[in-house]
Amino acid sequence: MEDYRLYSWPKPFGPRVSARRSYQLHSVLAENRVYRWLATVLERQPRMYRVFTAVEKASKERLFGCQMCGQCELPTTGYACPMTCPKQLRNGPCGGVSPQGRCEVHPDVRCVWVLAYERAAAAGRGADLALLQRPVDHREQGRSSWINYWQGRDEDMAVPAGTSPPMRSEREVVGR
Ligand code: SF4
Repeated sequence: MEDYRLYSWPKPFGPRVSARRSYQLHSVLAENRVYRWLATVLERQPRMYRVFTAVEKASKERLFGCQMCGQCELPTTGYACPMTCPKQLRNGPCGGVSPQGRCEVHPDVRCVWVLAYERAAAAGRGADLALLQRPVDHREQGRSSWINYWQGRDEDMAVPAGTSPPMRSEREVVGR
């Protein structure tokens, strides 16, 4: 039987930037024609793509604990990264959260979904937490979520509950 203690579980990460400031930063990165052009150029140049992705990783890892899933959910989770949940749940917490809001796997820290709710609510974005997130496409692991976003690949990532988001596997994964 496999010893799961050998794995290094992700750990809930408390973002280093307030939710309000994060939403402001997001508006700087908002998709436009220039960013889309840049994304297209970068995808044609593997070396530049790797450098750009390394910069994205360095900044988002430090600020948000980013795990480079390539399909960023931060704008709908109060900028608390759900991939730092040990179970990497994308649609809310598991049933193991303690009454004090602590993580079941890492009881020394608070559940990232509790952080998400508090941060989103503080920024007036609590309703985002009711959106349904599509399943993670692991083929995107390590790829740039900014480029994917600028290329319009995240448009249907979160939909109102009751509708079904398309599976990412129905799409082309660029560069693979
Ligand atoms: S790209 Fe994925 S892993 Fe990185 S911050 Fe966004 S949701 Fe988290």
